[in-house]
Amino acid sequence: MNNRTFTIIKPDSVENGNVGKIIAHLEGEGFRIVAGRMTRLSTDQARAFYAVHSKRPFYNDLVAYMTSGPVWVMSLERDNAVPHLRKTMGATNPAEADQGTVRALYGESIERNAIHGSDSDENAAIENAFFFAASELI
Ligand code: ATP
Ligand code: MG
Repeated sequence: MNNRTFTIIKPDSVENGNVGKIIAHLEGEGFRIVAGRMTRLSTDQARAFYAVHSKRPFYNDLVAYMTSGPVWVMSLERDNAVPHLRKTMGATNPAEADQGTVRALYGESIERNAIHGSDSDENAAIENAFFFAASELI
């Protein structure tokens, strides 16, 4: 399905009270919220979720950060959902993110960068299934 993606509003955004503003920003970009909830990742979940980065030097810090507090996870729907969410988020490093993007507005650093978004349709399907039951993804 090329009209679905998955997002995590990261611990820094929850800590800073930006969850509602980020959800409103995403709705303003035309995303429909299919499913969503607050959760806290276990270390095993965070390691599995970011397994693609397991050989990178920042992996342990990334896992520690993503488990440091609650997050808000959502399944989102829109035309061209994956590329449009990536555009709406901005570059990984908030300092390099285009003006008006979620990371430029709310990110603090390359680690505390406000939001995650799936990077392909295949990963969007995997990540949605990681957090939501099929019965929730309707
Ligand atoms: P995400 O997967 O969270 O949406 P992304 O796709 O923009 O972010 P990735 O390359 O997948 O970026 O990296 C995953 C996460 O790892 C980034 O969001 C960031 O928090 C962290 N990260 C990436 N590169 C670095 C780095 N050089 N130093 C520290 N942390 C990094
Ligand atoms: Mg990524």
